[in-house]
Amino acid sequence: MSRPRPFNFSAGPAVLPEPVLGQVAEEMLDWHGSGMSVMEMSHRGREFISIYEAAEATLRELLAVPREFRILFMQGGGLGENAVVPMNLARTGKVDVAVTGSWSRKSAAEARRYADVQIAAEAFSPTAQWRLREDADYVHVCTNETIDGIEFQELPRIDTAPLVIDCSSHVLSRPINWSRVGCAFAGAQKNIGPAGLTLVFVREDLLDRALPICPSAFNYKVVAEHQSMFNTPPTFAIYVAGLVFQWIKNFSYAGKTGLAAIEQRNVEKATLLYAALDGSSLYENRVAAECRSRMNVPFYLKDERLNDAFLAGAREAQLLQLKGHKSVGGMRASIYNAMPLEGVQALISYLQDFEKRHG
Ligand SMILES: *Cc1c(COP(=O)(O)O)cnc(C)c1O
Repeated sequence: MSRPRPFNFSAGPAVLPEPVLGQVAEEMLDWHGSGMSVMEMSHRGREFISIYEAAEATLRELLAVPREFRILFMQGGGLGENAVVPMNLARTGKVDVAVTGSWSRKSAAEARRYADVQIAAEAFSPTAQWRLREDADYVHVCTNETIDGIEFQELPRIDTAPLVIDCSSHVLSRPINWSRVGCAFAGAQKNIGPAGLTLVFVREDLLDRALPICPSAFNYKVVAEHQSMFNTPPTFAIYVAGLVFQWIKNFSYAGKTGLAAIEQRNVEKATLLYAALDGSSLYENRVAAECRSRMNVPFYLKDERLNDAFLAGAREAQLLQLKGHKSVGGMRASIYNAMPLEGVQALISYLQDFEKRHG
């Protein structure tokens, strides 16, 4: 590449590993001598089936997904799953939702269209204090609140009902403790690949609970029985996701490889950035230390009149998409897997420079 690309802190769709983008470009017109772009292939042809099977196998290996879980490659995004999950799992019509931020609040609102929803918690709090019903069909948790920058460092342990996690914005940034999970879903566009692909991991005993109104194309059992090919899956997005999985598998850092290496680098990136924010008198992050997200770091300038100058200077310094979500304002740096350590270091230098000039 002729000149280095800027660092992109978008919350999603978000930065992808540069080697993956380069490989996609190389293979765009002719995938492995097939004479076709992946976009032009039949999803049932042997070329695409090999791409799909490799992607699924690598994903299963990276996250150590147990055999009793099916992996579904779906569409509809995280918000789609807010309806698809209750249509598949709310058999008796009772859903408990822990509201820890903006995304879980949306999940609760959507589930209300299909089920009787009880708010188990109204903020991040110890699981022992949650209001849970013995006869709920499932308990919904958003394990990384992308807008609020709140992350569960450990999955809640729920004994009363299956746990459903929306892990859209931190999937593959750390391992998942499957023994605590019944179903997990994630839109791809935060940490995995292009928008349009939604991953669902569902335990087999939960496959047969769908409400009659559930569309066939979104029925977990139907999708599982057809190896995610009941209808045409998002083929190109699956291909790119497969390359990202392979990139993670081959990733090495600090003497580790694969997901452990990615997690180690994520911890270091987040630690550096929070330390820089906490050590300054111009910026602040308002999240309690025990639930700060490693992926999404919202912060505010104490003098909000400097916001525009901050963002303009950041763009000039090749640091893109730092504006916070419109519902909370301020700034947000999303530092997903594909953000290099150098990107976080460049951001910290800019934060310090800007503070020297305006502090
Ligand atoms: C981005 C995001 C979503 C929404 O995904 P869409 O693909 O836009 O529907 C849902 N949940 C979380 C936690 C997210 O970060």
